[in-house]
Amino acid sequence: EPEHATMLDVLADTVRAHPDDVALTYFDGRLTFTELDDLSDGLACHLAERGVAQGDRVAVYLQNVPQFAIAVLAGWKAGAIVVPLNPMYRTHELTRILGDAGPTAVISSERGWHDVVSGVATALGIDIAVTTSELDLQTRDDQRLFARAERRPAAGCTDLLAAARAHAGQRPPAVSPSASDIALLVYTSGTSGVPKGATNTHGNVVFNAEGTALRLDEETPGGIFALAPLFHITGLVVQFAAALAAGRQLDLAYRFEPGVVLDALAEHGAAFMVGPSTAYMALMNHPEVSAEHFASLKMVHSGGAPLPSAVVEAFRKRFGLYIRNGYGLTETTATATSVPLGLEAPVDAASGTLAVGIPTYNAVLRVIDEDGSDLPAGDVGEIVIEGPMVVPAYWNKPEETAAGIRDGRLRTGDVGFMDEHGWFYVVDRKKDMINASGFKVWPREIEDVLYGHPAVREAAVVGVPDDYRGETVKAFISLAHGSTVTGEELVEHCKRQLAAYKYPRSVEIIDELPKTATGKILRRQLRDTTPAGE
Ligand code: ATP
Repeated sequence: EPEHATMLDVLADTVRAHPDDVALTYFDGRLTFTELDDLSDGLACHLAERGVAQGDRVAVYLQNVPQFAIAVLAGWKAGAIVVPLNPMYRTHELTRILGDAGPTAVISSERGWHDVVSGVATALGIDIAVTTSELDLQTRDDQRLFARAERRPAAGCTDLLAAARAHAGQRPPAVSPSASDIALLVYTSGTSGVPKGATNTHGNVVFNAEGTALRLDEETPGGIFALAPLFHITGLVVQFAAALAAGRQLDLAYRFEPGVVLDALAEHGAAFMVGPSTAYMALMNHPEVSAEHFASLKMVHSGGAPLPSAVVEAFRKRFGLYIRNGYGLTETTATATSVPLGLEAPVDAASGTLAVGIPTYNAVLRVIDEDGSDLPAGDVGEIVIEGPMVVPAYWNKPEETAAGIRDGRLRTGDVGFMDEHGWFYVVDRKKDMINASGFKVWPREIEDVLYGHPAVREAAVVGVPDDYRGETVKAFISLAHGSTVTGEELVEHCKRQLAAYKYPRSVEIIDELPKTATGKILRRQLRDTTPAGE
């Protein structure tokens, strides 16, 4: 059972218990829990004064900077629903998302405001704008990241820190959200198409944040490094909300940049981090990486994307750290399964797939067939999830809600199975199945084999149109630092380990695979760029 009803209750208790402890670091800048509380009170006063009321939406368009945390807390304190926005989004994506969310206020970086947000905000008639410079609250001049971030205050916008400080000592008007009120409206990252807004309630967020905090308590003390972006559900819940619930320091480093991450880990010595598997692959591939960079880490989690077992083994061998897999969706407020402490996830012998864990706390996972009937252990079907972390609905989308979230049970669109010991395995996304001459091919299985080749850094397998087979298997590869290999050698590598209908008929080696800003490989984009008949 969760200890608190809302994230504001969580915050109040943590500020009481750890008033002077560091809540956030940002390069050599620091904020304590009391400072974070005071600044977010001030900004909440400003938002309320400008007319933000209970249930209004406040959008946040920022990288991993301390102002993100201030903005989220201020939004909640003003009674609003916070809408995190991917700062890579441009006019098209922002117009679609903000048009659907209908925010009254938007909080943006100065650069983002000038580049894109101002145009969208004007077009949509959003009249409260707060901007902030990424240089504020950060004292070291890091040329790599901040060269382009000069101060450019905008006309008609309020400066975030000035607004917060102008109300120093004031408390925002009392709002009292309840557990069932929406805390976050998070649009799914869109690896599969139209973004849908998941309505994560305070109850959903508190439940998973306290769950992560509990796991941290069982392990050793220490801070959390924000490897995942704060605009993604993992970043918001497993990093930010969990750090608040546990009273832990959260280290921010603007955005994912392997060299900067390694420096920040060495400097701040975090004990825990969580991110997509591709972040671990990128860190491992950095020319200067060494075990020393990771010396302070006690627990590392991967979630949000498939984790090849070859990556887990390579990471362990080189750095002595075991990456714990975890599975979930935006709609499950990040985590729905995890690998229990003291255990390691098994690998399915037939497919080579690493288990994603067992259901966390009150999560219930089932595997169903096309008719919706439960399948026995070992059988492959669609994964359905229910529990206190599942969102009640999609925003403004009654049809999608009725189709996807019936009676509190979420249809994930993922295909998987449970083994006889209760471990769950995600085979793939239902819609990514390749139909080669009538045979079902799941891209992940082939990717797992490709990751077993030492020259492969990243792999993505897609189905491409084929006159004879209908679809045929094609692999895209990026190479590990300093490695060489030919496409033919990789085809041979797969041919040795896979059935004839599965191995890729062609392999294309490219510099970087396309990814979402959260680090997921965009198979859809690779598929769409391959002309028919190739
Ligand atoms: P969209 O719904 O628009 O396609 P998205 O699915 O990327 O976007 P998220 O909610 O961020 O949005 O991602 C959830 C998906 O990520 C899951 O449905 C699953 O396919 C995949 N996933 C998450 N964790 C794992 C994991 N540990 N192993 C394999 N796949 C995972």
